[in-house]
Amino acid sequence: MDSPLVSLVVPAYGEGSHLASSLEAMRQEARKAGGDYEIIVVDDGSTDNTWEVLAAEARADAAIHAIRLSRNFGKESAIAAGLHFARGETIIVLDADLQHPPALIPKMLEIWRKTGADIVRARKLPDENEPWRQRVRRRLFNRIFTRLSGVDLADASDFMLITRRVRQTWLAMEERNLFFRGMIAWLGFRVETIPFTVAHRQDGKSKWSTAALFRLAATALTSFSTLPLRLAMGVGVVFMLVSLLGMIYSLVYKLLGLAAPGFTTVILLQFFIGSLILLSLGVIGEYLGRIYEEVKRRPRFIIADRLGVDAAPPPAAATPDRTYANSKEAAQE
Ligand code: UDP
Ligand code: MG
Repeated sequence: MDSPLVSLVVPAYGEGSHLASSLEAMRQEARKAGGDYEIIVVDDGSTDNTWEVLAAEARADAAIHAIRLSRNFGKESAIAAGLHFARGETIIVLDADLQHPPALIPKMLEIWRKTGADIVRARKLPDENEPWRQRVRRRLFNRIFTRLSGVDLADASDFMLITRRVRQTWLAMEERNLFFRGMIAWLGFRVETIPFTVAHRQDGKSKWSTAALFRLAATALTSFSTLPLRLAMGVGVVFMLVSLLGMIYSLVYKLLGLAAPGFTTVILLQFFIGSLILLSLGVIGEYLGRIYEEVKRRPRFIIADRLGVDAAPPPAAATPDRTYANSKEAAQE
């Protein structure tokens, strides 16, 4: 089977109310690109009518492929599922709520054609109307992440074009703790960037709670950096040195008969050191948890239903990526 020029990969969670119009907008822009296209929509275990709308779309248009995950796996896993089935020469990942303007699709393809870049990243322009809390949260995260991991994520979004070989390489990374943007940035390759303004959400609410964002941040940090672990060690060493000085000091005082009741010092130190120990344990626990998840080697996602996606690996294979690598389709590429 010929591979299309571009595969659009669209994760969708609770987007039923506007999915049809979003897909129409994407289809129109994809047509302008001059070549075959496919749109792979991954329903990430929505509880609304997303799947019904999507299934109807897939039946009406052969270019639309529908995948339904067995439950809500999170955006990163939904993207992984979409990438898994994408057959295009290039793949563009974009949100289902039209916040990533489909009008950029032809532009991204043009840049890819002209420059031969492997990745065309869309960089978010500062949004005047962004609530300050969100802005602080985003800036802080990007700054810390860049510092710790050495992978620059400034104003990055998941909205990007990648070539087939980037997709292959990405899928070959077998980790379970996924962070799409970060992993793509880590891969390297030739990157071009275009700016874009984040549009308003079509309908419904953002699915990212502060807790979900925090989890993603923790995944991003722990899977890209061991600095927190080393930091705990460093702080421990510094404290040992300081307490050594303290010991000498208090011994000298004791010998000179000057020892004060010293209750305050003791209790303060106890609090301080106790909290440091707990903190370090927490850091270790965070990494241990990730290792546990990786070691279990569970699938990144489980597919419940699919429409229009054929010539694909069996769903819910224990390690979908390797199954894919052995499939006939991979051999043709
Ligand atoms: N999404 C998903 N699974 C989730 C949460 C979100 O597939 O658990 C999808 C969602 O349908 C949308 C995209 O990820 O297409 C971005 O989500 P959202 O618009 O809620 O986030 P924001 O735009 O506020 O970052
Ligand atoms: Mg959104």
